[in-house]
Amino acid sequence: MMTQRKRIILTFPSLVIEKPITYHLVKDFDFKVNILRAKIVSGEEGRLLFEVEADEDDFERGLDFLRSEGVEVTPLSKEIRLNEKACTHCGACTAVCGSGALSLDKDTWYLSFDVDKCVACELCVDACPLGLLSVHF
Ligand code: SF4
Ligand code: SF4
Repeated sequence: MMTQRKRIILTFPSLVIEKPITYHLVKDFDFKVNILRAKIVSGEEGRLLFEVEADEDDFERGLDFLRSEGVEVTPLSKEIRLNEKACTHCGACTAVCGSGALSLDKDTWYLSFDVDKCVACELCVDACPLGLLSVHF
């Protein structure tokens, strides 16, 4: 049996947020779940960026379970890359990065890019005046 490791974005409608979805993924489908980022606004939609590891069959069954519960499943197949050498550390990209992946180091004021926090929303791509952030599939 092949084990799969993937990053997926789960979007929960408000009715589903209170349900113990993660508990079922771990207990019923043997998922190893690492929540990289969670944004849940009370009474509204919630988003989770997951890194999951599971056997191939369990993986598909787990995703079917999520969809049957009304959760939208989006594989994170995009990657944002930064051309660090040309960066002037102006910070313009950090203003649009809601996940906190892009930030200015408070000691050095240099740009720091934490790939694990990136949810590939692409907002930073247009925000950089030098075009240093790009999307790769
Ligand atoms: S794609 Fe979105 S989350 Fe990722 S670094 Fe850019 S603004 Fe931040
Ligand atoms: S906007 Fe561009 S130049 Fe400015 S800090 Fe971000 S990546 Fe660097």
